[in-house]
Amino acid sequence: MLKHDVLIIGGGPSGLSTALHLTKTAPHLSTRILILEKAHYPRPKLCAGGLVVDAEIILRRLGLDVSEVPHVDASAAHFDFAGRGIKIRVPKSHTIRVIRRNEFDHWLAKKTRERGIEIREGITVKNIIPDKDGVTVETEQGNFRAQIVVGADGSNGITRRCVLPNAPVYTARVLEVITPEASLPDREIASGKIIPRNDTHQTSAAYFDFFPVPDNIAGYVWDFPTQINGEPMRCWGIYDTNLLSDQERPQLKKPLAEEMAKHGFNLDDYELKGHPIRWYDPFNPISVPRVLLVGDAVGADPIFGEGISMALGYGAIAAQEISESIRRNEFSFSGYKRRLVRSGLGQTLFARWVIAQVIYPIKWRWFQILLWRMLKPVVIFVAWVFVLNWSKRMA
Ligand SMILES: Cc1cc2nc3c(=O)[nH]c(=O)nc-3n(C[C@H](O)[C@H](O)[C@H](O)COP(=O)(O)OP(=O)(O)OC[C@H]3O[C@@H](n4cnc5c(N)ncnc54)[C@H](O)[C@@H]3O)c2cc1C
Repeated sequence: MLKHDVLIIGGGPSGLSTALHLTKTAPHLSTRILILEKAHYPRPKLCAGGLVVDAEIILRRLGLDVSEVPHVDASAAHFDFAGRGIKIRVPKSHTIRVIRRNEFDHWLAKKTRERGIEIREGITVKNIIPDKDGVTVETEQGNFRAQIVVGADGSNGITRRCVLPNAPVYTARVLEVITPEASLPDREIASGKIIPRNDTHQTSAAYFDFFPVPDNIAGYVWDFPTQINGEPMRCWGIYDTNLLSDQERPQLKKPLAEEMAKHGFNLDDYELKGHPIRWYDPFNPISVPRVLLVGDAVGADPIFGEGISMALGYGAIAAQEISESIRRNEFSFSGYKRRLVRSGLGQTLFARWVIAQVIYPIKWRWFQILLWRMLKPVVIFVAWVFVLNWSKRMA
């Protein structure tokens, strides 16, 4: 049985960030950390890849420059209700940077390895059994033993299911589709399906439209610029927190198809994929003795399902907690939740949880119009103070 001090399950942004932050706070641990990843890089991960400024700040503090990863910079972000609303631009900078997750995670894994951390790919964890002296991690390729286990295995992860089987789970349903940058009227005409072109969206901007809320979909449709192998593309999708799930609601595909059709795209021409996002709930437990959770295993942002910057932030908090626990030789992790709640990340997660509980259940059309079209100064103030810039409040 192989023994390690810290065994991280999952090599996505939260697992890799935990390892990178540990090498910073406790460099002597570098050779005693192991990451187990079930896939092989560059592995696909369904995600729109929108990075907010907080993600870039955390990476910069780790000495990493995300502009090394192929990306598209969105010049502006529009928060609309039925096509009209608030436009946000960050002066002298991009508003959202859009990466592809196969490329971003592969790059981050390479940077992690360069700092002396071992990552084993193609190993799927099947069971996690903590006891008073350590944790046994069972995989198809044999068992591992560690002092501490970090569950960084995402929204469907095994770690939470093993160590906190009865904790409630709040998940959003999400669909995503990739299309070329512009619709292809010639192809539509050739196939006899002429779709009128009325693309009011600028291909350089990111759009969030909350028009499905009155139809009991507590979320939005997005349209982001992106790239695949250097080719300009668009990433479309729909996010539903499920906060209105006790009411009658349409399938997600219909509003997404309607929105895409307005911009000249036929959803049925493209491959539609779905994946849940677990979102943060402040009342949920996030650790047991010797095992702590990070990233989507704890929960992403409930308003937008934004989770990459959060995953990077969870890694910073978990690394502090782990370094402290090793120094004290005490592994209850009883202070982990308090550490999270008091951090900039914990504050924004709580604020976003409150905001989601307010703005989605008030599904009247007039309220959504008021919010996204008329309360611009209020929305921008709340976004600036409670939603963004949280990484600046992290030590
Ligand atoms: C459709 C969609 C669009 C999204 N768009 C955005 C966006 O634009 N911006 C944004 O910030 N967030 C977005 N998100 C959320 C974002 O993808 C997640 O919050 C983020 O990936 C969380 O990172 P993580 O490291 O916690 O988990 P993950 O990225 O899911 O990584 C978990 C890793 O664990 C591995 N793993 C899982 N189980 C095991 C096992 N048993 N054994 C070993 N390894 C295992 C997986 O292979 C994976 O590599 C989106 C999500 C979806 C579904």
